[in-house]
Amino acid sequence: TLLPLDIVPVCVAIVSYRAFADYRRMLAVSRLAHTDEMTNLANRRAFMQRARKMFATTDLEFGGLSAFIVDLDHFKKVNDAYGHEAGDEVLIHASRQIVAALPDDALVARLGGEEFGVLVRYENVAEINQMAEAVRHHVASKPCAYNEHRIQVSASVGVGIANPRDSIGSVMTRADDALYEAKNEGRNRFVIAA
Ligand code: GH3
Ligand code: MG
Ligand code: MG
Repeated sequence: TLLPLDIVPVCVAIVSYRAFADYRRMLAVSRLAHTDEMTNLANRRAFMQRARKMFATTDLEFGGLSAFIVDLDHFKKVNDAYGHEAGDEVLIHASRQIVAALPDDALVARLGGEEFGVLVRYENVAEINQMAEAVRHHVASKPCAYNEHRIQVSASVGVGIANPRDSIGSVMTRADDALYEAKNEGRNRFVIAA
């Protein structure tokens, strides 16, 4: 039989096992709250949280941050032509192309629907052009295989470049305006906000 003292390590084991299980459950819940289930990218909430942190830890007088909004072109037509399930596959595929086009430390999120957010660090403005063009090119040049189809889409990209007075919100507003221009000018292109 167990003497009182022998019970102590057993209790410790039970308590720590349960604490560990609680901790793992908490991590799983937090992950769900921050992840877009379909693409496995960060969701809008996580994007804004991480972006705020990046703004807080970056001296914009010296280092550079740039935000992109990437919106798939005429995406409704993909659903209409191939069905919603195909549309989902194309969205997942496009999300991978966006990630593949960007540096490993880029923050990429699904903001909602067929719209993605990107936050990147840059050293000179030429890099922003290269990254925005890489995103556009990757999406447009790698069709998504779905059953016997190869579904081709393109994306328009609005780009905002942070200045020292900016917050993530103000840069995203300019990126959104630039996206609107990119759509108006014919889509499958990027526009950098003035
Ligand atoms: P534009 O070039 O102006 O952006 O045209 P668009 O058709 O992409 O834009 P619109 O906003 O008119 O339509 C977006 C479409 O995206 C409509 C909606 O059915 C589709 N969509 C949004 N979220 C999802 C999703 O999770 N799965 C699928 N399959 N379709 C989605
Ligand atoms: Mg669209
Ligand atoms: Mg959209």
